[in-house]
Amino acid sequence: MSRIFNFGAGPAMLPTAVMEKAQKEFLNYNDMGSSVIEISHRSAEFDEIINRCDSLLSELAEIPPNYKILYVHGGAQMQFSGVPLNLINYKPARKATFMLTGNWAVKASKEASRYGTSINAISSEDASFSYIPKWNPSDLDLESSYVHITSNNTLYGTRWHKFPETGDIPLVADMTSEFLSRKIDINQFGIIFAGLQKNLGPAGLALVIIREDLLGHALPETPSLLNYKVYEEQHSLANTNNTFAIYMMSLVLEWLNEQGGVGKIEIENSRKAALLYDFIDNSDFYEGTAHPDHRSIMNVTFNLSENELLSDFLEQARAAGLYALKGHRAVGGVRASIYNAMPYKGCEALVDFMREFEKDRG
Ligand code: PMP
Repeated sequence: MSRIFNFGAGPAMLPTAVMEKAQKEFLNYNDMGSSVIEISHRSAEFDEIINRCDSLLSELAEIPPNYKILYVHGGAQMQFSGVPLNLINYKPARKATFMLTGNWAVKASKEASRYGTSINAISSEDASFSYIPKWNPSDLDLESSYVHITSNNTLYGTRWHKFPETGDIPLVADMTSEFLSRKIDINQFGIIFAGLQKNLGPAGLALVIIREDLLGHALPETPSLLNYKVYEEQHSLANTNNTFAIYMMSLVLEWLNEQGGVGKIEIENSRKAALLYDFIDNSDFYEGTAHPDHRSIMNVTFNLSENELLSDFLEQARAAGLYALKGHRAVGGVRASIYNAMPYKGCEALVDFMREFEKDRG
């Protein structure tokens, strides 16, 4: 069976070696005569899996000891509620500041306004979120309980290269579409969260990394299963967690470790993105949509100079084994999501296809 190159934004391609390993041990995990999805979340075997996940994450992301790792239900958008419920009360004014660099930040801001006041400090909506606006730290409302950013904007192909400096006010980052794709200093953040379905594993669960002094401020009405303190106290097992997703993540993290870790994968990711951007920049037929200074190395977005060729482009790409290149419905155009598991040869195949398509139709 030949596998396609899946450029979808998520659920995204996972490493083939990971899937093979999961397949191999699916019916008989660890010689137990049982599948990993059939064993108790309170068994010694699952305990070993979740502990392995914790230690691999700590090592790969260089998570300092004063941060807690949580596996939280509901994926990334659930944390648009989870973060304000846990942190809006950090300061009495119940305000949170948002950097609107894309639709996910807009959604997070709206959700937080159920629990307090959302301040939208900057926005690049005027230019279809194609850049990261400048922000002056002296503009920060000091009554804010936290500042929220989307570190990588999945729809628009932009990212924060340098994170805003917010002093004593905790910085919260939605890193769903880039966590573990580049080295970051965790100490800059109060909370990092990421849905699993891009670089970490299957959809439906979010990884939350929180500085421990930020635990314990949840609003009284916070549902227990969104209260980060409850997750911390019970090692994310207050109820039956998604054991299979955590198991899959442990395999993905082992794979990343075997690749040489985050520093190594960042070099590879940059090489993959450069291949695509260089080709686009040297073509009159394709046009990148993100500002060159703010480009993502995970989501490469571009248009065809003749938009009426888009559906042919997507159809022929699909036939050539290059899957899910359609831009988000809110944006249009083409988006190549090239997460950690996308091999360099997938990007080469895409460039070869683009070159041929331009030759035929350009
Ligand atoms: N934030 C970002 C940056 C995303 O890319 C996505 C999904 N593409 C989400 C949030 C929403 O994730 P979920 O579907 O897990 O709620």
